[in-house]
Amino acid sequence: MLRAQRRKRLSRPEAAASEPPGDTRAQTTCYMCACRCGINVHLSNGRIRYIEGNRDHPVNRGVLCAKGSAGIMQHYSPARLRKPLLRVGERGKSEFREIEWAEALGLAAQWLGAIRGSDPRKLAFFTGRDQSQALTSWWAQQFGTPNYAAHGGFCSVNMAAAGLYSVAGSFWEFGEPDWEHSRYLLLFGVAEDHDSNPIKIGLNKLRQRGAKIVSVNPVRTGYTAIADEWVGIRPGTDGLLVFALIHELLRLEHVDLDFLVRYTNAPWLVLRHPGGGDDGLFARDGEGRVLAWDRRANREADAQLAGIVPQLVDEVTLADGRRAVPVFQLLAERYLDPQYAPEAVAERCGIATETIRGIARELARVAFEEQITIEQPWTDWAGRRHERMVGRPVSMHAMRGISAHSNGFHTCRAIHLLQMLLGAIDTPGSWRYKSPYPKPMTPAMKPAGHAHQVAPGEAMPAPPLGYPLGPEDLLVEADGTPRRIDKAFSWEAPLAAHGLMHQVIRNAWKGDPYPIDTLFLYMANMSWNSAMNTAGTIAMLTDRGADGGYRIPHIIYSDAYFSEMVAYADLVLPDTTYLERWDCISLLDRPIGSPEGPADAIRQPVVKPDRDVRPFQDVLIELGARLGLPGFATAEGKPRYRDYADYIARHERKPGVGPLAGWRGEAGDKIAVGAANPAQLARYVENGCFWQHHLPPEQRYFKHANRDYLESAAQMGFIDRPRQIVLQLYVETLQKFRLAAEGHGPVQPPERERERIARHFDPLPIWYTPLEEAAIDAAAFPLHAVTQRPMPMYHSWGSQNAWLRQIYSRNYLYVHRHTAAALGLGDEDWVFVVSHHGQVRCQIRLVDGVNPGTVWTWNAIGKRAGAWGLAPDAPEARRGFLLNTAISELLPAHLPEERLNADPITGQAAWYDLRVRLERADAGNEDALEPLSPPRGVIVGSGQ
Ligand code: SF4
Repeated sequence: MLRAQRRKRLSRPEAAASEPPGDTRAQTTCYMCACRCGINVHLSNGRIRYIEGNRDHPVNRGVLCAKGSAGIMQHYSPARLRKPLLRVGERGKSEFREIEWAEALGLAAQWLGAIRGSDPRKLAFFTGRDQSQALTSWWAQQFGTPNYAAHGGFCSVNMAAAGLYSVAGSFWEFGEPDWEHSRYLLLFGVAEDHDSNPIKIGLNKLRQRGAKIVSVNPVRTGYTAIADEWVGIRPGTDGLLVFALIHELLRLEHVDLDFLVRYTNAPWLVLRHPGGGDDGLFARDGEGRVLAWDRRANREADAQLAGIVPQLVDEVTLADGRRAVPVFQLLAERYLDPQYAPEAVAERCGIATETIRGIARELARVAFEEQITIEQPWTDWAGRRHERMVGRPVSMHAMRGISAHSNGFHTCRAIHLLQMLLGAIDTPGSWRYKSPYPKPMTPAMKPAGHAHQVAPGEAMPAPPLGYPLGPEDLLVEADGTPRRIDKAFSWEAPLAAHGLMHQVIRNAWKGDPYPIDTLFLYMANMSWNSAMNTAGTIAMLTDRGADGGYRIPHIIYSDAYFSEMVAYADLVLPDTTYLERWDCISLLDRPIGSPEGPADAIRQPVVKPDRDVRPFQDVLIELGARLGLPGFATAEGKPRYRDYADYIARHERKPGVGPLAGWRGEAGDKIAVGAANPAQLARYVENGCFWQHHLPPEQRYFKHANRDYLESAAQMGFIDRPRQIVLQLYVETLQKFRLAAEGHGPVQPPERERERIARHFDPLPIWYTPLEEAAIDAAAFPLHAVTQRPMPMYHSWGSQNAWLRQIYSRNYLYVHRHTAAALGLGDEDWVFVVSHHGQVRCQIRLVDGVNPGTVWTWNAIGKRAGAWGLAPDAPEARRGFLLNTAISELLPAHLPEERLNADPITGQAAWYDLRVRLERADAGNEDALEPLSPPRGVIVGSGQ
């Protein structure tokens, strides 16, 4: 009897193991970090129940990380704002009155309209981690202010600028390792959140094929923890290490000369004319063509003629008597110098000489003895057919650990130089361009904001951000005074392609170079983790001038959550969550393309807001119409677009080119270029909210020199014309700035900048001691301090997320156990981390996996009490800490002149340059900032 009952139970299980998680499913794109994975959102009775990865999506192939699946808790965060807010008390006190949208938009339009009619530069519009920069940049251009940027100057502009000026692409967003064929991956200073699922999937592929992974990082965590070899380098010395590798490869003659001749400017002739205004520029003929020396004809020739046999070494005399030398000769002379030998740099890098030599040997062996051949014919730019694709299976990847140093631009350039010398750019097995890259520097998209481009009530003729090609492209007055509030594209940061968000508040507070009226921020937590000198920034936001008014008169802020910045705004425009709005991940901005072809994506609202909030993009479009901005209002003053969804479908940046590339044309049968399609968004939704185009096999490698690829890229509008993109070992733009510093040319730097520009603007990569380290007493601050990004968190957002808080709800300072022992410190002791600028109190943990001269912590876990819906006694506020407090936006005050704590070329914030000492402290957080009071409607959680 019992047996029969048991059999019945087994044959009729009562537990429904595969019950659907909801009654409906909608597809959209994740926004829990920057990777933009495809997700399936399951709903039950209109409430989100479960999020899974979309298996068909090109970015993540169904993989979902901890952050992505916890999106449900982000959506239902207790810290969500509920209604527009108008400040009624002092800034920072969180005393607001709830207002209706009509009043909020009317007020914003009133403030903004007044300054547009008088001086549009009095608006500084800066966004944080938003993914709609194609729209926000266009809006700023239509408003007429050059004072626009997102947070790239804080994050990764060194990577982007160094990559684009060198190889017409960059690590992370515009390129990735050839995961299918690479046999050796060299990772530099990676930030785990910025290439999360895609790199995890890729690393898994490498692992399965037995490829070797070598990680160069002071900290052994994240991807470094699964590397075959960890190189625990001293922060800021990566450039020296790379030079030593280059030195070894040159010394042993392990460089790909054929690749260099065909695809780089190695043979281009550089004029030798010491003291002359053309010294160091490329030798050109009367038509402006760059020259090389043709060995066969024994005379100069157009360097880009396919039939020449160019000379790589030896000085030559041109027909007109000028002396010139090939780029390769300059390069070899520099890096064969004994100062770059492994034994000469080893101690400064904290790496054994033999380790450096070993890496160089392995790079050479894998590149030249294990070359990859794909039996795929292709045709190069000159029409020469190649029967197969041959590549060097050595790939590289780098991110913020390289970027956030004051020498990061040159370090990143050095890595690209190493790739080029190995013939490892867009070949089988190496680093590959993600379509729509490569994009050449010419014709350049130059930044707008010159005096003749800014006028009351007028739009600017071009976008505010771009890529200068020489001093004449700088946004400066005749006397060298910066024209932008953040001083981007000035002599202080000439190639600041992403702007300098980290300088905006200080400059606006100081009125340097001029006062502004309105600071308009979106998703930029500038009073906490998106600023250095946190306490100082807060003081500037609340400081009053002689007239009793705030020194920054108006602050408008849009955010979905009660972040630390909300308390300092005068007008708060509450945004939706990413699951409540349309969005567009556009080819005009930072798309989701891969080496296999271009791709873009959308977000669609999967639930309706249950609060009185609006998508920021809708708000921007409505404000644009109210202000009569030409891109957003018709000549009759009517709104051009109903909302963001309407804009995505109908906006054209140039004829036939809009925010989305898929299903263009009235019938939806065109790609990249075609008329607007009213059904375009519906087609995206049907397709899982993404579009991708697969390049045919003959176009998938050598894109910079592949005739068929270049022709199709020109047809799709990615490049101007189907011409070879020559990779730049030697960047002439940098030499133009150096010549200006030496007194040549019509646009001259102020005297105080000359020496600095001449020193740093070297057309070949250089290394110099990080600027903070060079300015402080190293004995007083003997340790480097850096942050790492915890994989389950994205910036400050994770601390409001009930699931993610269970992984990290506080941070420690991690100290090598030998270093701690020498200081008499033990596990869980409290210390002050003291820098030249300030100090922060925290608890330490002892570890082995860190460079002994370096301490580190997770970034942005520590929170200000009261923010993010956290209880005042939440661990994030009680025991967490923010290292930014100890980092200054300026170099030490004892220097004779005020100097930015930034890369002198791009203005990238150099927050990884921080030097500190540890001092024993009592337990506690008495020195923390006073708790913030959440506005009505924000639910304050428990302390745990
Ligand atoms: S990697 Fe980023 S985008 Fe992808 S699922 Fe995770 S959080 Fe979302």
